[in-house]
Amino acid sequence: MQRTLFDADHDDFRQAVRQFVERHVVDEYDRWEAEGLVDRKLWNLAGDAGFLGTAVPEEYGGGGIADFRYNAVLVEELARVGAPSLSSGFGLHNDVVAPYLLELATDEQKQRWLPGFCSGDIVTAIAMTEPGAGSDLKGVRTTAVRDGDGWRLNGTKTFITNGIHSDLVIVVAKTDPSAGARGISLLVVERDMEGFRRGRKLAKAGMHAQDTAELVFEDVHVPGANLLGDLGGGFGHLMHNLPQERLSIAVVAVAASSAALDWTMQYCHERKAFGQEIGSFQNSRFKLAEMATEIDIAQTFLDRCILELNAGTLTPVDAAKAKWWTTELQKRVMDTCLQLFGGYGYMDEYPISRAWRDGRIQCVYGGTTEIMKEIIGRDLGF
Ligand SMILES: Cc1cc2nc3c(=O)[nH]c(=O)nc-3n(C[C@H](O)[C@H](O)[C@H](O)COP(=O)(O)OP(=O)(O)OC[C@H]3O[C@@H](n4cnc5c(N)ncnc54)[C@H](O)[C@@H]3O)c2cc1C
Repeated sequence: MQRTLFDADHDDFRQAVRQFVERHVVDEYDRWEAEGLVDRKLWNLAGDAGFLGTAVPEEYGGGGIADFRYNAVLVEELARVGAPSLSSGFGLHNDVVAPYLLELATDEQKQRWLPGFCSGDIVTAIAMTEPGAGSDLKGVRTTAVRDGDGWRLNGTKTFITNGIHSDLVIVVAKTDPSAGARGISLLVVERDMEGFRRGRKLAKAGMHAQDTAELVFEDVHVPGANLLGDLGGGFGHLMHNLPQERLSIAVVAVAASSAALDWTMQYCHERKAFGQEIGSFQNSRFKLAEMATEIDIAQTFLDRCILELNAGTLTPVDAAKAKWWTTELQKRVMDTCLQLFGGYGYMDEYPISRAWRDGRIQCVYGGTTEIMKEIIGRDLGF
């Protein structure tokens, strides 16, 4: 189906992203996958190209346009070439962290952080998850105890995207452990703060080039000037921003599914068995038809959600619907496509093999499918 979401400016932006991907990503991606990390300089190249902080006001070096369609184009183009490690790294920076800084940072904090955010000098991360608390965010055990004008931070975070490269980390910590959700605050930890260190760079089933790490905070003195948002308001800030994170994941899910379908349709023409194209078997044709239908339906719902997000009317429930359904679709599509590739689908030289591994995490991070259904189910009154 023809998408009606974009206008000429978005199309130009897409062309610029495509050229960037061709020039700086495609030939390097295998090496980054093998090394488990993208080159740090890629962040500065993306910043120079104007891809970081499109929503950040121009006075701080950003694009000055708060329009999620630009965010969507960037991650779609990376997903399209089978580079989800990058769409998730840049997506985390632009789609997840940027709203916290734009909505919660003071003027002084914006001046300190946003220019580097846009140039790629400051790579960002958000550290919610801990070894003992993922879905149950209220269960975090990282503490921040009053210390002079600031806080003394102690705790360990895990699975943190951009963890190794990060220069600025929004850390979810308990500033008042007796106050439950109202005792959670967001503190910004910067690269050179004493007591902040990176733990392991984590080996994963897929998305090998994605920088995922443990972060350790041992008696880190976080100055009062690095509190982000309201003291004790951290949980509310997280709940407010999670829908945009979920939509970003859904954008990747549909773009990756669509790319996998394209590769598979081409293969179904090329590959012959029993004297005919494998796509001409009724089973193959039906599988392709089912996937094409479901991807179109997903895209339509997702595009509507993007417009709602831009209008400020996207509900957490609709974001949860988009997140679980598109990522579960991605899982089905990847599996079906791999099956249609036969044994070659399991070989790394075919992109479907990597996409099948890479896509699996989408149903887990940003809130699992089960947690999404909890959100929707509660809204239904159950
Ligand atoms: C590659 C990667 C990148 C990530 N990036 C980040 C990041 O940048 N920042 C960050 O903070 N976190 C990040 N995460 C963490 C991610 O968000 C969590 O892994 C996820 O939220 C699930 O938490 P958990 O792993 O602790 O699983 P658990 O919460 O232990 O869940 C285990 C299982 O129990 C189920 N379950 C839990 N509670 C319920 C319930 N109430 N009802 C029904 N079922 C339930 C879950 O659905 C799941 O199937 C990342 C994870 C990965 C793998």
